[in-house]
Amino acid sequence: GTVVSSQANFMRVVVNSASQSEDWGNLGMELLCVVKDVLKKIKRRVLVGDRVLVGAIDWVDKGGRIENVFERKSEILDPPVANVDHLLVLFSIEQPTVEPFTLTRFLVEAESTGIPLTLALNKVELADEGALKEWKSRLHQWGYEPVFCSNDTKRGLDTLQFILREQTSVIVGPSGVGKSSLINALRGNRSVVGAVEDENLFENVCLPFVVVSRTLGSKWFEEQRVGEVSTRSGRGKHTTRNVSLLPLSGGGYLADTPGFNQPSLMKVTKQSLAQYFPEIRKMLEQDGPGKCSFSDCLHIGEPGCLVKGDWERFSYYLQLLDEIKIREEFQ
Ligand code: GDP
Ligand code: ZN
Repeated sequence: GTVVSSQANFMRVVVNSASQSEDWGNLGMELLCVVKDVLKKIKRRVLVGDRVLVGAIDWVDKGGRIENVFERKSEILDPPVANVDHLLVLFSIEQPTVEPFTLTRFLVEAESTGIPLTLALNKVELADEGALKEWKSRLHQWGYEPVFCSNDTKRGLDTLQFILREQTSVIVGPSGVGKSSLINALRGNRSVVGAVEDENLFENVCLPFVVVSRTLGSKWFEEQRVGEVSTRSGRGKHTTRNVSLLPLSGGGYLADTPGFNQPSLMKVTKQSLAQYFPEIRKMLEQDGPGKCSFSDCLHIGEPGCLVKGDWERFSYYLQLLDEIKIREEFQ
């Protein structure tokens, strides 16, 4: 199964496959599981998003025990989510307007995870087509193909749904750009939040999921949870806000990660920074992969450097390089 949320010592696991034919009818059921002691002893922490092997299943009371954790494809730490396939970097064209340096920080942080990313610009109905065209060609120079979207007009939402299908994605971006609204829109009518409370909602569990972080103190989280849970199951509102995977209407999982709202670039070193700029990657790859004369070239005018300084974000590269150098000196 897949771990969809964690609460204290319990993990909620959605059953993805069954070992015996008599269990097939239980696919999509959510089990409340404890973690086998031996996993705790070897400090094998189980994360939301982990694919796990569940044993000791009680189908009637919907309980089980996590016996083992399958190897992770990827892992992000804040919030902790395993097996993230895709990052959706979301900014808005207006309100707030795109700030190129901030956008660069987010892109560098996202690139540094090694997880594929999509850049989307929201609230496009607030800008004219001319401005969009300019942004498109500008971002193309940076090495990105932006998806233009709007929660208001629904433009681009089908494209995003297509991009996010059948995978676990994390949505990152500054506050106010429309992340919560987008999650809501992509979730469509199929409630997911209630799924944590009401297993009947898991009939369609093969649909995509959204990941919601426990620290997501947004109105969206409260409204949706409270509303859905109380109408569906008649029970009170949740008090816990652990990371949860919640189904989307098009397949996969999506996470809102406040931890990402301020890219720390902690994992970026002065040597690795250049790799996270598509412009530099391209210059080094022109006419086949080339190398600067010095193997530890930082591309700041060293003799025999293949990276020229005639591109828009070169000054951002230098600025981030300085920031990282200072951090590294103090570490
Ligand atoms: P978050 O902080 O990134 O989660 O952003 P929210 O989803 O809370 O949205 C911030 C504000 O932007 C809210 O007032 C939304 O109604 C508004 N908003 C979200 N999407 C759009 C959009 O496509 N167009 C416009 N004009 N406003 C939007
Ligand atoms: Zn160089």
